[in-house]
Amino acid sequence: MDDTATSTNLGETTIDVALAERGYHVVIGEDLLASAAGRLKALLPGARFAVVSDSNVAPLHMGPLKESLEQYGLFLGSAVVAPGEASKSFPVLAKLCETLLDLGVERGDCVIALGGGVVGDLAGFAASILRRGVRVVQVPTSLLAQVDSAIGGKTGIDTSQGKNLIGTFHQPNLVLADVDVLSTLSEREFRAGYAEVAKYGLLGDAPFFVWLEQNWQGVFADETGKRRHAVETSARAKVGIVVADEREESGTRALLNLGHTFGHALEAFAGYSDRLLHGEAISIGMRLAFTYSVERDLCTPDDAARAEAHFKAVGLPTDIATIPGDKPTPGELLRLMAQDKKVAGGKLVLVLVKGIGQAFIEHDVSMEQMTDFLKRECARR
Ligand code: NAD
Repeated sequence: MDDTATSTNLGETTIDVALAERGYHVVIGEDLLASAAGRLKALLPGARFAVVSDSNVAPLHMGPLKESLEQYGLFLGSAVVAPGEASKSFPVLAKLCETLLDLGVERGDCVIALGGGVVGDLAGFAASILRRGVRVVQVPTSLLAQVDSAIGGKTGIDTSQGKNLIGTFHQPNLVLADVDVLSTLSEREFRAGYAEVAKYGLLGDAPFFVWLEQNWQGVFADETGKRRHAVETSARAKVGIVVADEREESGTRALLNLGHTFGHALEAFAGYSDRLLHGEAISIGMRLAFTYSVERDLCTPDDAARAEAHFKAVGLPTDIATIPGDKPTPGELLRLMAQDKKVAGGKLVLVLVKGIGQAFIEHDVSMEQMTDFLKRECARR
């Protein structure tokens, strides 16, 4: 464990995303927004900036960023979308692109995505197609966005067929993660983002999972250094995976989808609504991935029990039965899972585990096997 866990003078941490001409830095620190413009001017000389946010985040955090950009004469204006997954849609994307053009965004300018994963994915996508591609700086404000979605250049929107089925790879020029802004996040959203933090331990870093088992309360309570340590360790893990497999070609990047094939199906079933947040769906999905791995004799029941116990301890859901309202049938879930981008030749491709910290890609999951499993899980109370 590095010493950031206990240090009180944390300063700034810079993680290098070494992708040659598409390389950039992830900067993690406190109070970064009010001084952002100087950094941006030095990084992108000549560019002006349009800020995209949502109507929850804008009133809380746009002010210091806007003032900073105005001081340098670099502020083009802002576009504010409705909060929530529903904004990752063609109609909102179209309107956003037109607003950015109306603001005068030119080829050499830059879009700033100030918000959670929804704003990051949507604004990143808009930037990638506007004038055949303008630059984007990600300023993630949710825990999920700081540890995951703002890093790695995946952008996109949803359709009725499923999540993130339309999108691009468009690496940002900078990721500016100000951990101070997490203090305004609701506890439920923080907890949902924490599912992705735990995911890094479960997929490839067993010592980090042990640290989380021992320190999660400090991460939630923002005890000195603990929240920062969790954000940094997760961001480093994400960067490592993105650098190893930028466009999800070798399979390494697909490991980030631990729990996501199940989770995305559950989210689609719940209508991408407050009924089930992304992180909550992923939490149930990861528990299902562990249980399924045990059924296939890949993982010990003890490791699966530890993962489940940790989710329960932090208050994350682990069962399909806990989704409020009507429940999916096994057939519905399987149909939604079959929309997954990883489906190949009619077979499901799943991220499974050989234990805590040992995820791998399984290409041989038959629909029949999965139907039996889902029947049992849908009946589980
Ligand atoms: P989100 O963007 O909807 O944010 C969650 C909620 O918190 C929203 O209501 C938002 O307005 C609010 N919020 C955000 N920051 C806040 C702050 N500091 N204070 C107060 N409220 C704040 O959702 P999310 O969980 O951040 O992201 C989920 C999205 O990310 C999904 O669409 C998912 O598909 C996507 N995602 C993308 C990637 C990727 O690699 N591109 C990876 C993982 C997830």
